[in-house]
Amino acid sequence: MCGIVAYVGPKDAAPILLEGLQRLEYRGYDSAGVAVVASKALKTRKVKGRVADLAAVMPARFKGTTGIGHTRWATHGVPSDVNAHPHLSSDERIAVVHNGIIENADALRQRLEGEGVKFLSETDTEVLAHLVSRAVEETDSLEDAVRRALKSVVGTYGIAVVDAQRPGEVVVARLGSPIVLGIGEKEMFAASDVAALVRYTRQVVHLEDGELAVLKADGFHTFGGDARETAKEPLTVDWETANYDTGGYEHYLLKEISEQPDTIARTLRGRLDDRFHVAHLGGLNMDARETRSFKRVKIIGCGSAYYSGQIGAQLIEELARIPADAEPASEFRYRSPVVEADTLYVAISQSGETYDTLAAVQELKRKGGRVLGIVNTVGSAIARECDGGVYLHAGPEVSVASTKAFTSTAAAFALLALHLGRVRDLSPADGRRICEGLRALPDQIKEILTQEEHIRSLAHKYAASPGMMFIGRVRGYPVAREGAQKLKEVSYVHAEAYPASELKHGPLALIGPEMPTVAIVPDDEMLDKNLTTLGEIRARSGRILMVGHRETDQADDCIVVPKNQNELDPILLSIPLQLFAYHAAVALGRDVDKPRNLAKSVTVE
Ligand code: GLU
Repeated sequence: MCGIVAYVGPKDAAPILLEGLQRLEYRGYDSAGVAVVASKALKTRKVKGRVADLAAVMPARFKGTTGIGHTRWATHGVPSDVNAHPHLSSDERIAVVHNGIIENADALRQRLEGEGVKFLSETDTEVLAHLVSRAVEETDSLEDAVRRALKSVVGTYGIAVVDAQRPGEVVVARLGSPIVLGIGEKEMFAASDVAALVRYTRQVVHLEDGELAVLKADGFHTFGGDARETAKEPLTVDWETANYDTGGYEHYLLKEISEQPDTIARTLRGRLDDRFHVAHLGGLNMDARETRSFKRVKIIGCGSAYYSGQIGAQLIEELARIPADAEPASEFRYRSPVVEADTLYVAISQSGETYDTLAAVQELKRKGGRVLGIVNTVGSAIARECDGGVYLHAGPEVSVASTKAFTSTAAAFALLALHLGRVRDLSPADGRRICEGLRALPDQIKEILTQEEHIRSLAHKYAASPGMMFIGRVRGYPVAREGAQKLKEVSYVHAEAYPASELKHGPLALIGPEMPTVAIVPDDEMLDKNLTTLGEIRARSGRILMVGHRETDQADDCIVVPKNQNELDPILLSIPLQLFAYHAAVALGRDVDKPRNLAKSVTVE
């Protein structure tokens, strides 16, 4: 789940590994470690704590031009120096770093202990070091030893392995947890995330599930599980190193909220056609006839991606009049879904590596489903697995709590809905209305961002509440859900989201002075119904913060956003809630960019 970096080349590995691990810090982790190969021996350092703590205990002389590094997000065993990676074989010849979970680790450990192996840590990962160590005795290739070791493993992994006897060589492998190779000038890198590589190279190669790679200074070879060499085309990434700096903002979260006028514009760029009022989505890989043939759309994603999928389902039903719904991918994959040939499946993931979503896509593919991906990371596992899709082009999202990927996904759904609608019954006039609405979004977002000070003062006012209710009707409901999610994630204030229409069917019992409500009240056909709900809350002494298009004296406080087309309003209504959550978290002194217990791109189950 957390970070891997590997290097082989002419330079000292340690500074490169540390720098790479720093770039991965945003993902959230509890310990860090490195190992380098130096004159046929391994040197390792690992600590519970931050990469800076690791750097502080590194001796001045830590020479070695081949090495691996890791940031750990503990799944097996407490965060501690001993449990931190790399893990070594008993003879200290093999070192392994691992992201993911070895599901049969207990059984493997018992077997190895029965054979006399002494374990030092509580981790599942340590079995890998011992398994590779046994296999390496029987073969003269490290890559072969790793392949053999992995044969007895059940679970998910991204791993990097070094052998003290083979300076100048690193072996990496992936199954369910990403590994990307970086190609340099007479040097090679690998990492679990391109963020760790962009400082050194733009030429990358993504490993597929089941693939292994051997890295040497002068190049790399990739192999399938059957030991056959695989052919890989390097990809050029266009992400700038600047994306990984806070760029003068106090936190990545605020930086990314503020980037949204630009990120939405990038998602839309080159995709709106003013002549026919259609959307051009080159990556869908479907002709018009096929596009017309779907009878249903099923959207899957996890967390905020799922909520943006709910906005997407609404857009597709409204604009294309195709029944559409969204479901958490984490549930979908396990309930033996009925997969139909005339359903279009859409999978959403910012990183393109979310394990639950990837597994759901793989299940769909096995059953012959047609799957599109809405993904931010070019070349990622989900992007590769899908039949086609839409890239967000929002640039890397570093903050654990998603904001710009959320709004860009909603905008990508508006494009998809427009596309599906215009090959069906959506009129040119309505197509034009949506194109104009989409074009207006960046400036309208700018306008919302100018209200930051007002939103900050409201966040300070409400942050001390023991809990908050978020409500919205129909288009407003996913906005409420995402608003509650943001508040929970970064401020740890308890937040519930309900359809406004459901309030009187249960949760109204919670309403009182201690439980303020954030109400999403767009100026649409639901306005009167929403105002009635506000009246019901006030009658129970509930305080109300309304987010909508015009002030109302039914609410204690109001945030007014510019009006767009009804169908596109959810995108704009989401933005004040991001700022609200951010400032509530700051007011409460939270670690905004690394909320407790959470990690970016959840690549474990
Ligand atoms: N399961 C391993 C451990 O607990 C790896 C966790 C990770 O992905 O960082 O050490």
